[in-house]
Amino acid sequence: MVENFQGKVVLVTGASSGIGAETARQFASLGASLAITGRNAENLQNVAKDCGQKNVLIVVGDVSVEEDAERIIRETIDKFGRLDVLVNNAGILENGGIKDTSLAQYDRIMAVNMRAVYHLTMLAVPHLIKTKGNIVNLSSVAGTRSFQNILSYCISKSALDQLTRCTALELAADGVRVNAVNPGVISTPIFERAGMQDQAVKEYLEGSKETHPLGRVGQPSEVANAIVFLASDRASFITGATLPIDGGRQLTCSRATVKQ
Ligand code: NAD
Repeated sequence: MVENFQGKVVLVTGASSGIGAETARQFASLGASLAITGRNAENLQNVAKDCGQKNVLIVVGDVSVEEDAERIIRETIDKFGRLDVLVNNAGILENGGIKDTSLAQYDRIMAVNMRAVYHLTMLAVPHLIKTKGNIVNLSSVAGTRSFQNILSYCISKSALDQLTRCTALELAADGVRVNAVNPGVISTPIFERAGMQDQAVKEYLEGSKETHPLGRVGQPSEVANAIVFLASDRASFITGATLPIDGGRQLTCSRATVKQ
């Protein structure tokens, strides 16, 4: 059986970059109709082009803004009349441990990585129940292991793992599956966006060859492969899973830090 998303509608948040963009491209290649959302219209246009543009809806918005989240779901349903898969991918990373963090940082990270996912999930569930659809959340190895210097990020991803399990339990009777992927270090612009300088990113990615037992960082396509699998009928008996896509990172001791 090959994954086939003909006639299915997939919503990917943070689809303008990195893992989200690659996930959108993979779903498109398997016949899905797509709603892609993010804050950068130009990048979303480029991703839509890669997806063949047919059956692609672009919704520009910030997932942490309540009206935007409502509009993302509303425009998706207005355009396609249904929703089969929600991929909660949008996320941010920032440096900071308990000695140098702030409540403002905690609020920023939780607003995007957790509260927005909670909100979009609430809004999407009535539609997913109708289609017996499913949700894939983008968590992290930082949700299941402890890392220095990215405290709020770790907390946000742990909370997301628990959201995944609790909603999976609640929605199982409705035929709606909920899963998460937990990547290790993946080569995307997230580190630059977190404020790391180019050289620091280079060194961090190089150092990750040591911390990931498979001896390298991952690529966005390797995470997208797993997202597509979990969203497909091939994963029909999988719910509440938090799947490491991390070259074995979760097996090793976790002393690596994200440096500026
Ligand atoms: P990325 O920075 O390339 O992509 C993140 C996307 O989310 C971008 O399109 C960004 O614009 C969008 N986004 C951020 N805040 C948003 C907001 N408020 N509203 C709408 N869109 C918003 O990073 P990525 O590596 O592709 O990250 C995707 C997901 O994977 C994130 O949830 C991240 O935490 C998770 N992840 C990444 C890694 C990694 O090493 N790259 C590892 C584990 C988990």
